[in-house]
Amino acid sequence: MINCSFENTAIAFAHKTDKELKLSKFLFNTMSYPFFVPFGTRITPFLMKTGLPIHGLIRNTIFKQFVGGETLQETARVATQLGKFGVQIILDYGVEGKSDEASFDAATETFIRVIQYAATQNNIPFISIKVSALARVGLLQKLNEAPRLRSGIHDNENEMDEWDRVCERMFRICEAAADNNIGVLVDAEESWLQDPVDRLTIEMMEEFNKEKAIVFNTIQLYRHDRLSFLKLSHKIADKRGFVLGVKLVRGAYMEKERERAAFRAQKSPIQPDKESTDKDYNAAIAYCLEHVQNIAVVIASHNEQSNLYALSLMEEQQLPKNHAHIYFAQLYGMSDHITFNLANAGCNVSKYLPFGPLREVIPYLMRRAQENSSVNGQTTRELALIKTELKRRSAK
Ligand SMILES: Cc1cc2nc3c(=O)[nH]c(=O)nc-3n(C[C@H](O)[C@H](O)[C@H](O)COP(=O)(O)OP(=O)(O)OC[C@H]3O[C@@H](n4cnc5c(N)ncnc54)[C@H](O)[C@@H]3O)c2cc1C
Repeated sequence: MINCSFENTAIAFAHKTDKELKLSKFLFNTMSYPFFVPFGTRITPFLMKTGLPIHGLIRNTIFKQFVGGETLQETARVATQLGKFGVQIILDYGVEGKSDEASFDAATETFIRVIQYAATQNNIPFISIKVSALARVGLLQKLNEAPRLRSGIHDNENEMDEWDRVCERMFRICEAAADNNIGVLVDAEESWLQDPVDRLTIEMMEEFNKEKAIVFNTIQLYRHDRLSFLKLSHKIADKRGFVLGVKLVRGAYMEKERERAAFRAQKSPIQPDKESTDKDYNAAIAYCLEHVQNIAVVIASHNEQSNLYALSLMEEQQLPKNHAHIYFAQLYGMSDHITFNLANAGCNVSKYLPFGPLREVIPYLMRRAQENSSVNGQTTRELALIKTELKRRSAK
C-alpha cells in the first residue's frame, strides 16, 4: 500500500524556516490580488531597464521563492537543503529569448557545464533544456510549417546549415549527458515551434536511449492531438528499439495558443475545456505506466488528483515506489506539499530548479506570477497549507 497524503504540512515545509515560510505566505498573498500580477508583469521588464533600485527587491522576494540562484554554484545551497529530505533536482538554466548564433553556442557550452556539474552531485539526476535556446525561433517556425517529417528548407542552403548547427548543438548536449549519466528533459514550447523539437528529440532518443532513458521529450496534454502523439512516439520507440523518455505536462501557453489560433481563424490546438485536458493527462499517465518496461515517465504536475492517480495505478500494478522509470516533478517554490510528501513516501521526486542572471530569468518569473494568480484554486491551496503550518508551529 502506497501511504501518501498531501495534507501533512509538517513534512511539506520541514525544509523551510519560519522566516522563509512567512515570505512565501506574503508572496502568495500578494499574487492573489486581482490587479497586482497583470500590473506587475507589465511594468517589471520596463523597470528593470531603468536605473531604479528594483533588482534587490525582486532578488529578495519572487526570485528567492522560484529560482535557485544567479549562478550554478549558488544552486548548491538549495540542492543540498532539498537533498536532506530525499528531493532531487532538475537543473534548468533559465535563459530565454536569444536569437544569435553566438548565444546559441554559449548556451550549448553552459548546458554541457551544467551536466558536468550535475554529475558531481548526488541529487541532480536531470537537466532541462529548451531547443529555442539553441535555435532561432524563426527557423523553428519555418520548419514547423513544413509538412511533417520534411525539413522544408531544401531550397535554402543557409538555413540548412543553420539547422545542421542546431542538430550538432543538441547532439553534443545529449552526448555529454549520456557520458555523465544525466537525463536531459527537453521542454515543450509553443505549438508553432514544436514539430522540429519533437523530431530532433526523437532522433536523440534513438541515438542515446538504447540502454536507458537519457533524453526525454515533453508531451503537453492541453493539446488535443498529444495523447495520440504519445502513442505514436511509443510505436516508433518499439520499432526502432529505444526507451521512450517522456515528461507529461498539461501545458503552459494556453492563452497565447488560443489567441494566435483565433487571430488566424484557425482551429485551436488546445482542448475545449479543462476536463478534456485532465482526462488526457490521466490517460497519458495510465498509458506510460502500462508500458513502463520501455517508457520512462516524468509526471510533471501540481495537480493533486493526477499525482494520486499515478500512485494508485502504481499500487494496482504493484510497481515499486522508486521504480527506475517513474519520476514525479514540481517546480521549485510551488506545491511543496506534493513534492515532500511524495519523497517521504519513497517516490523518485524532483524540483525543477531554474537558475540564471536575474535579468535573464524575468520571463520565467513572470510566468510563475501569472500561473499563481490565474490558477486561483492553486494559490488558495498553497496559502491555506502555509497558514496551517505556521499555526502548527506556533502552537508547539
Ligand atoms: C516540472 C515541470 C515541468 C514543466 N515543463 C513544461 C514544459 O516543458 N512545457 C510546458 O508547456 N509547460 C511545462 N510545465 C508547466 C505545465 O505545463 C503547467 O502549466 C502547470 O504545471 C500547471 O498544470 P498542472 O498539471 O500542474 O495543474 P492544473 O492546475 O490542474 O492545470 C492547469 C493547466 O490545465 C490546463 N487548462 C487550464 N484551463 C484549461 C481550459 N479551460 N481548457 C484546457 N486546458 C486548460 C492548462 O495547461 C493549465 O496550465 C511544467 C510544469 C512542471 C511542474
